[in-house]
Amino acid sequence: MALEARSEAKLDRAVIFLGPPGSGKGTQAKELAKVYGLPHLSTGDMLREHVSQGTALGVKAKPIMGRGKLVPDSLVLRMVAERIARPDCRHGFVFDGFPRTVTQAKYLGELLKQHGLQQPLVLHMAIASPVLMRRLTGRRTCKVCGALYNVYDRPPQAAGICDYDGGELVQRPDDREEVIRERLHAYEQQTAPLVEYYRRLGSLQDIGADGSFEEVKQRMFESLAGSGGVR
Ligand code: AMP
Repeated sequence: MALEARSEAKLDRAVIFLGPPGSGKGTQAKELAKVYGLPHLSTGDMLREHVSQGTALGVKAKPIMGRGKLVPDSLVLRMVAERIARPDCRHGFVFDGFPRTVTQAKYLGELLKQHGLQQPLVLHMAIASPVLMRRLTGRRTCKVCGALYNVYDRPPQAAGICDYDGGELVQRPDDREEVIRERLHAYEQQTAPLVEYYRRLGSLQDIGADGSFEEVKQRMFESLAGSGGVR
């Protein structure tokens, strides 16, 4: 399918991105959501919003996130259930950073049934770990619009400034080397088992996540077109 035609195609379902921190899942998830007009739901962004607003959830989550550990399932599940009950999620959504444990995956399966949605399409961003540290330490986010850059692989036109709105580019506090190590460890221990979980359910597609943003994006859309997941 030609890239131009895709925005007219439909992807009325839940899509999940699985992959370690630094695999580029956030960037590609945003792109996919934009092309298909679906909400992009990042549990990391939602939690950071709670932290910056100082809500009860934010106060509990902040020290855990600062150490690179996973926030307890009970807290994350309530937040997710509230979010996908909103009307914009009626026809589907793109999840980035959720589920991260088998408990979360099972709960999501139940929620989708309750909302009359089919089981999720899972895109696994497969990548060798040596690339990840460089990607994560180079990552910068626009303070205003949340656009993602990488000082090594996807730099802004002017250093430290967003191409879209001139906003300041900042580094996430958990993109420091010692916290990154802990986040990669949490991924291996708690999230990587989901790859086999979803593979067994037959809903998982592997996407080679090394290469440029454009190369990975191309692979993602080819994989979706070949999967029968797009109408
Ligand atoms: P992310 O932006 O997806 O890298 O998430 C940043 C941090 O938020 C993670 O290191 C966790 O501490 C927390 N977090 C995000 N999503 C989840 C989740 N689904 N379950 C538990 N913790 C999460």
